[in-house]
Amino acid sequence: MERTVLHCDLDNFFASVECVYDPTLANVPFAVCGDPKERHGIVLAKNQIAKQFGVKTAVPIWEAKQLCPSLRLVEPHYERYMDFSRRARAVYEHYTDMVEAFGIDECWLDVTGSQMLFGSGEQIAKEINSRIKNELGLTVSVGVSFNKCFAKLGSDLNKPNGISIISRDNFKSTVWPLPVESLLWVGKSTKTRMNNLGILTIGDIVAFGHDLITASFGKNGESIWRNAMGYDCSPVLRERELPAAKSIGKSVTGSRDLVTEEEIFTTFLALAENVSEKLRKCSLLCGTVQIHIRDTYLGITEHQTRLVQPTRLASELAQTGMELFKKNWRRRIPVRSIGIRACELMCDCESIQLSFEYDYQKAILLERLETSVDRIREKYGKNALMRASLMHSALTQSERVSFLP
Ligand SMILES: [Mg+2]
Repeated sequence: MERTVLHCDLDNFFASVECVYDPTLANVPFAVCGDPKERHGIVLAKNQIAKQFGVKTAVPIWEAKQLCPSLRLVEPHYERYMDFSRRARAVYEHYTDMVEAFGIDECWLDVTGSQMLFGSGEQIAKEINSRIKNELGLTVSVGVSFNKCFAKLGSDLNKPNGISIISRDNFKSTVWPLPVESLLWVGKSTKTRMNNLGILTIGDIVAFGHDLITASFGKNGESIWRNAMGYDCSPVLRERELPAAKSIGKSVTGSRDLVTEEEIFTTFLALAENVSEKLRKCSLLCGTVQIHIRDTYLGITEHQTRLVQPTRLASELAQTGMELFKKNWRRRIPVRSIGIRACELMCDCESIQLSFEYDYQKAILLERLETSVDRIREKYGKNALMRASLMHSALTQSERVSFLP
């Protein structure tokens, strides 16, 4: 049976979600930005009207304001985006359990086995499109194809609010005339190298031929050629089938430099809470903690240590990070950015060597406490509970909240 894969991409995601909350934004140019007072105040997303003024994602706010003086600035609300992302996924899961997320606003759906119930891929795409509009107030563009690569490309063809079908019959006329960078995994540098060889379109990749592409671009080139030919057969992976992460980390560039040990510790604690929650979600423990420090002279150092006992407790991760930091922060230069990473991950069901140096009783109680905190935040929002020590940290409120997964 021919595979049918959908790629659903929520249009202009951050900006559209903000419009749902504040409909007056619909007719003015606006941009979702990091806090203008913070060092990294840049445009995170913009609406169509702002786009027409030339406002681009990732430009500094002052530059965007020069291009469009009437630009309205809107603070990001990550909680809302996560919520809408989850709600969209719930719609997709009505049609298939084979849903693979690609970033916060995109998903692949394998609906091969769902068509007897819900109709063809195109019919499912139409239904999803109208449900997302009615139930979430957003628009979604959908690509329907016989593999993931062309489905993804299809969702880009008719934006916003479009549905594109790329079939075995039409892919040569639809896909091959497009520029090489429309193809998944053709990044900037590959595009430049291809263009220098006169390979401008996806059809040119095909014409260049398997052997020449492989000789010039190695393994990566071969897989690009296969994708261009429509040979991509990579499966849509359910969440539990996704390859396990090798490490989980979080870092921050503070809105101001970190100077005192207390500021450093509370920042580690905020970062560790984020890492710890992700470890719990994936039923993982870590055996090694790694930190990185970037000082105001932009010197970067990395340090790591093995733990006496594998853990995922935020307090232990932060404590270990702090000990590593103190040992290595000899020159006491103000810190611009720090990060913490849980490495040597293992499943929490694996048997582990016990140690006399570790207080298991306390660890069990803390694990219960942190799990309860996760549940409360899940139910009542990220702001529902916060460590008192973080209230006076060097982080801004929006930074603290954005750390919580
Ligand atoms: Mg999108």
